[in-house]
Amino acid sequence: MTDLHSLPPSVPPVLFLGAGPGAADHLTLGALRALEAAEVVIHDRLVGDEVMALIPPHVQRIDVGKEGFGPSVSQKEINQILVREALSGQRIVRLKGGDPGIFGRLDEEITALEAHRLAYRILPGLTAASVAAAAIGQPLTRRGQNKSLRILTGHDMAGFAEQDWRGLARQGEVAAIYMGKKSARFIQGRLLMYGARPETPLTLVENVSRADQRIHPGTLSDLPGLASCCDGPAVILFGIAPRDAAITIARIHEAKA
Ligand code: SAH
Repeated sequence: MTDLHSLPPSVPPVLFLGAGPGAADHLTLGALRALEAAEVVIHDRLVGDEVMALIPPHVQRIDVGKEGFGPSVSQKEINQILVREALSGQRIVRLKGGDPGIFGRLDEEITALEAHRLAYRILPGLTAASVAAAAIGQPLTRRGQNKSLRILTGHDMAGFAEQDWRGLARQGEVAAIYMGKKSARFIQGRLLMYGARPETPLTLVENVSRADQRIHPGTLSDLPGLASCCDGPAVILFGIAPRDAAITIARIHEAKA
């Protein structure tokens, strides 16, 4: 972290804040306090409406939302905005969906701040996978079943992301796959090629923790079909089927929504 003693005392550290995946219930108390004390909030597209509604009206908001592939505000521009606002000496909150440290380009923004000797702090949030697992009534790790949990991205800067498919294809493995909708067919193909069973359970959870949350249970053979049914952001819980009770409750909520 930046050496706070090397900074002019008038410049408060930028706060990287995790908003959680959507509902205000999934915001930490620290995050709420920070939003109330902020002067400028620079936020992403994935921050839920309920969380946005908690930002006091006098706080300046800067939307740097990006659409899945093909950013509308480039990362370079975001870095410039962040540095510009931080240098203004105001209390800046950089609000990101989920946990800023998971597929949140946090390192790039920190590097930009460091280049200007600007300080920062990180307040983590609940990541989409944790809340998705809770929604299907399951843990992400189970004693006697999976000894690790992989957090994967479906695509990276080079396109569809290569992974340790052989390791993941072993029976009992569990992964939370982010940004996996567009690469669903690729992921399925790779896993089957490396010996995963087509009947391996998985669950797509769409719009986690929002009013329009949907649970799509299935198997590896269904993955591309399930992904094509989702309009909103989705996390794929590979190797995990929902508990029946969780599905029943979810269907009741979905019917009401
Ligand atoms: N920092 C975020 C992840 C950002 S990457 C976190 O910790 O959750 C963006 C991906 O996260 C999306 O493509 C999707 O896979 C997942 N994601 C984020 N918010 C989500 C939500 N509310 N519902 C489902 N998936 C979500």
